[in-house]
Amino acid sequence: MLAKLRGQKFRITPQRLAILKILAASDGHPNMEQIFKQVKADFPTTSLATIYKTVTLLKQLNEVLELGFSNSGNRYDGNRPYPHPHVICIKCNKIVDPDLDSLDEMKKEVALETNFKILNHRLDFFGICSNCMAEKS
Ligand SMILES: [Zn+2]
Ligand SMILES: [Zn+2]
Repeated sequence: MLAKLRGQKFRITPQRLAILKILAASDGHPNMEQIFKQVKADFPTTSLATIYKTVTLLKQLNEVLELGFSNSGNRYDGNRPYPHPHVICIKCNKIVDPDLDSLDEMKKEVALETNFKILNHRLDFFGICSNCMAEKS
């Protein structure tokens, strides 16, 4: 990831490096606020605008995947920065990446059915996670 950014003449400041690391290491699909809080712990002078700018840049370089949600705000995945299915808890907004064997088949089926060349996809499953289920009972 770093080599790619250097190739893009992306100036790697310590703050930007921290944002990168947080995104690449997180599997919880953080939102902007959560990224901001984590970076701020190490770099108290960081502004939310810096986070926005850096994340937007990383998005353009396909180093982070943005998941847009109208109700709960956008979430970011730097761990798997390519299209993949998500399972979302409607109670606590937890997001998990399932490994679906049927995904490739599904893509082929969609292409056959519609005559589209499929470039991208967005597949979200909504439900209630096991933690929230346990809390309810
Ligand atoms: Zn939940
Ligand atoms: Zn994901």
